[in-house]
Parts: sequence; C-alpha cells; structure tokens
Amino acid sequence: MSKLLSVVVSVYNEEPGLREFYEETGKILKTLPKPWDYELLFINDGSADGSLAVLREFAATDPKVKIVNFSRNFGHEAAMIAGIDYAAGDGIVCMDADLQHPPECIPEILKKLEEGYQVINMVRTRNKTAGFLKNVTSSAFYRLINCLSDVKFEANASDFFAVGKEAAQVLRSSYREKVRFLRGYVQSIGFKRTTLEYEARPRFAGESKYSIRSLLKFSINTILCFSDLPLKLGIYSGVLVALFGLAVMIYTIYTWAKYGAPSGYATIVVLLSFMFAMLFIIVGIIGEYIAILFAELKDRPVYIVQDTENISGGKERD
Ligand code: UDP
Ligand code: MG
Repeated sequence: MSKLLSVVVSVYNEEPGLREFYEETGKILKTLPKPWDYELLFINDGSADGSLAVLREFAATDPKVKIVNFSRNFGHEAAMIAGIDYAAGDGIVCMDADLQHPPECIPEILKKLEEGYQVINMVRTRNKTAGFLKNVTSSAFYRLINCLSDVKFEANASDFFAVGKEAAQVLRSSYREKVRFLRGYVQSIGFKRTTLEYEARPRFAGESKYSIRSLLKFSINTILCFSDLPLKLGIYSGVLVALFGLAVMIYTIYTWAKYGAPSGYATIVVLLSFMFAMLFIIVGIIGEYIAILFAELKDRPVYIVQDTENISGGKERD
C-alpha cells in the first residue's frame, strides 16, 4: 500500500524564488523511498505579485502540485492551518517557500514519520540569516513565555515541522482559535515527538514578510494565549500596593507623632502616580484578553478559500 507525504508550502509574494523552490524540492521528493508518494500543496496567501500564475503553471503540468488559493492575505499561520486541513497525506511537512527550510531534510523527516513519530520539530542550529537583534529578542521571548506558560516551548523551533496523521487530525478538529500560535499547539498536543536539527539558509529571493512590529504583536498574542498569569497580575500588584500603602501610613503616623505634621505633597504625588500606572497597566492587560474573547465570539473564519486546483472533492471547511 502506498503512503502519501504532503508538503505544505505557504506562499505570499514569493514569485522570484518559486521556480527554484519547486525544482529543488521536486528533485528531493522524486527520490522518496517506496512506498512513499508525495503531493506538493501550495497555499497562496493572497499574493499581490505573480505567484499564483507561477503556481498555476506548475499545477497545469504536474498533478502532484495542488493549490489552495485564499481570497486575501490571512497570514502565515492561517496558511499553515489551511495546508493541514487540505493535506491528504499520512505525514505532513510544513515549510516556507523561500528555501530557508532546506528540502534535503525531507528524507530524514520521513524516516522519523516511519518510526511512528507524530510530531517532528525542526530546530535551527544557527540562525545566520536573522540579524543580531532578531536572535536576541527571539531568545528573550522564549525565556519569557516558558516562564509564564505551562507549555514548554522549544527555543529554536521554527515554522518548519512535520506532523503525522493523528496529530494532524487533532489540529483539524481542535485548536481552531482565532488568535493562535500553531508552533505552540504542535508542541503542546503530546504524542510521540522528536526534534531534528537543520541549518537555516539565507532567503533565496525576495524579502522577509515579518516586520519587528508584527513580531511584537505576535509575541504578545502568544503570551496572552498560552498564559493567564498576566490576568492575575491585578491580584499580585493589588496586594503589593496595599502593603506599600500600609508602610506609608505607618510612616505618616510616625512622623505626625514625632513632628506634629504629616509629610505631605510629595508622598501623595508619588503614591497616586504609582497606583494609577498600576491600574492602567492592568486595565490594558484585561483589555487585551477581552479583544481575544471578542475575536473568538465573532467566530470569523480563520481563512477563506477562493478556489483550489488539483484538489478533488472541494472540502467544505472554514
Ligand atoms: N507568508 C505567508 N503569509 C504572510 C507572510 C508570510 O504565507 O502573510 C509565508 C512566506 O511566503 C514564507 C513564509 O510564510 O513562505 C515565511 O515568511 P518569511 O520568509 O517572510 O518569514 P521569515 O522566514 O523571515 O521568518
Ligand atoms: Mg523566510
């Protein structure tokens, strides 16, 4: 019985490098050992350049190339989720279209899938491609999230990972949150899992779609989604401020008893601004959680598919 490997590739304005990606990945996929066959599932995430036309060209001559075309840009995470939804494989590999995730790793991943691993995380050994700032902030982020969340995150995990059939089914039926972090889910669903190392290559063509601002938003959302500790901050800081207030009260009574006049203006200003700052921060944090709840309540689709190519059955999914 033959087995199918689905390679899911999210594409957003990747026209300059797509041909190279297709050729290089195709070369590796054609040499997969028996009984493995493959499908190359491209998710076009609302590219504004000629990416879709290039993909259609591949699909016209190669039935193994499948396309899911979004109605607009929904983001990398949504594209990977759609890829997992539409993949028909016994194993699914998610990778970027910019050749930063070396396709040579696929046979190694396949071996792990055959050994029965359901989750295979690819870990960057060294990220020569990212700047110093990105490396430092990324490691600080992982330290923080590991401190705050019950789920332990692999620090150098990337969007390069593979899941088996059972893990994919879990991701299809659950974890459909609107504000999400797929990499975190993959690491928290359990199953038999392993990590493999790879060396990230520089981007083949085009430029990175993530700005520092979008990374920051992403990091904040991840912390909020995987930890409710910030919500409890109100209680902790309330206790802290109460203790502080008590100390100031004792001090005031003491100075009043000793000098006959309580120390005045400065204390009030310091206390007031300190407490208001605390209050606003906490209100802000609660606001962020409400925003997530609101997104969940509205229940808008994670992605909208405009059309597909070489995919039979036209799945009805959100
Ligand atoms: N991508 C996407 N939708 C987006 C942004 C990016 O599908 O809104 C894809 C992009 O085409 C690439 C992958 O996600 O295949 C990773 O993006 P990028 O290389 O820009 O991120 P980096 O490697 O710099 O983290
Ligand atoms: Mg990249």
